[in-house]
Amino acid sequence: MHIVQATPELTPIAKVGGLGDVVYGLSKELLRQGHTVSCFLPKYASLDLRLLKNLKSLKQFTLNHSGKEITITLFSATCEGIDLFLIDAPQFQTQEIYGGDNEIDRFFFFCKSIQHVLELKLISYDVLHLHDWTTSALTYLIKKPSLLTIHNLRYQGKSDWNPSYSLPLSFCDDAGDLNLLKGGIETADCVTTVSPSYAKEIQSIDGSCELQTTILQNASKIHGILNGIDAHFWDPGSDPHLPFHYNTSHPSKKTLPQIKEGKQKNKQALLTKLGMAYQPNTPLVSTIARLVPQKSPQLIKHAILSTIKQKGQFLLLGSSPIREIEQEFQDLQKECQKSNQGRVLMLNDESLAHQIYAASDLFLIPSLFEPCGLTQMIALKYGTLPIARITGGLADTVFDVDTAKIPEEKRNGFTFDFPDEEGVNWALNRALNYYTNEPEKFSSLMLQGMSYDFSWKTRTASYLALYSKLCKKS
Ligand code: ADP
Repeated sequence: MHIVQATPELTPIAKVGGLGDVVYGLSKELLRQGHTVSCFLPKYASLDLRLLKNLKSLKQFTLNHSGKEITITLFSATCEGIDLFLIDAPQFQTQEIYGGDNEIDRFFFFCKSIQHVLELKLISYDVLHLHDWTTSALTYLIKKPSLLTIHNLRYQGKSDWNPSYSLPLSFCDDAGDLNLLKGGIETADCVTTVSPSYAKEIQSIDGSCELQTTILQNASKIHGILNGIDAHFWDPGSDPHLPFHYNTSHPSKKTLPQIKEGKQKNKQALLTKLGMAYQPNTPLVSTIARLVPQKSPQLIKHAILSTIKQKGQFLLLGSSPIREIEQEFQDLQKECQKSNQGRVLMLNDESLAHQIYAASDLFLIPSLFEPCGLTQMIALKYGTLPIARITGGLADTVFDVDTAKIPEEKRNGFTFDFPDEEGVNWALNRALNYYTNEPEKFSSLMLQGMSYDFSWKTRTASYLALYSKLCKKS
């Protein structure tokens, strides 16, 4: 099968968060299973061209957009075996993937460019897989069955209605404004979201981000498929970003000492690099996140201070598009520096992220909502136990040590229900207590966590089943 994906992000060349990892992991697994994948992506000024192979200009064409003739160059390239079609136009000469005054128009233009290329019939393909509001307009622009994945319903692509786009009224909300995701949900033949729990949550008033009517009317075509993580990109046994490798593929009592030794060595190396003291029996808690309200930055801050107060160590790797949050965490960094028990690293750094997953004992994710969340799965794979708020995909992947709801051998972390300080304290303090006072139990949780298979291998079958249905329709 030949699957065309249209996406605003692709790891490792254009990553903001989980969406980039998902398109990368799914594409790689489809390739491994013998399918063909082509990804359309804007040729952002920030693309790391060193990671591309065979980059060449294929074609130049002009499109009339909002009364202006715009020249576009279509490039082809490959990235780790994935065929890419890169749309080069003046709009994408930005360093940032999202944001800016013309964000909606920029991505609508991206869709129109893809439409033009596909209509040239340069590629023959079977299925069109779209991602989020940024590519939703293609559900209408391309007259071929499409699958739309909602990675986060909160981001919908809203603006004033623009008649020059010539979109149908399904793209218009009750207030008469443009809503690209709404139109996509109504027009796509099939819609997926990134975990079974999130597929249910978005049907409720609170979870539907004001799209409840649309979601409920289209509920029969919405499927929740849990995301995976790429088993090669996230593998502590061969991860090129780690100074010390340890294999978690066959976790057992026998392999545990090597795993622990590998983690300790990575911890020592990372803490030394960051200028912090290495204390073998001190728990290291971490968080890696975009610091936006969804991720509960105030609770992360609370957990940092609380962990340090309890003589633990904390690492936060984050970045924020919100200036006040960025500033608040820069200030927190100064405070952490004093005790030397914590670091707040406000930057985007893939390599450092891998090192933190490997070095940590515990990983905090106190999200208000979480469509899937990849960080808990990565942490588990690296032998790091998650402390997570029960919501969305976190509820589908993290199971509390003390819950009676699921068998003991399936439990893999620490959870809490309410996203408040009490909730965090309840889970964090239990986690620290297990680490210090019940090391045997902590070790068996690590083993149970590492034995989960979160790879794309198992998830891809669900996408292939939906692709096949779409093929029959066309
Ligand atoms: P979201 O997509 O909402 O940001 P996910 O948990 O689905 O959250 O995915 C987050 C991805 O982004 C993970 O691969 C995580 O390691 C990565 N990430 C988040 N912040 C940073 C950062 N500051 N530096 C490096 N990687 C980051």
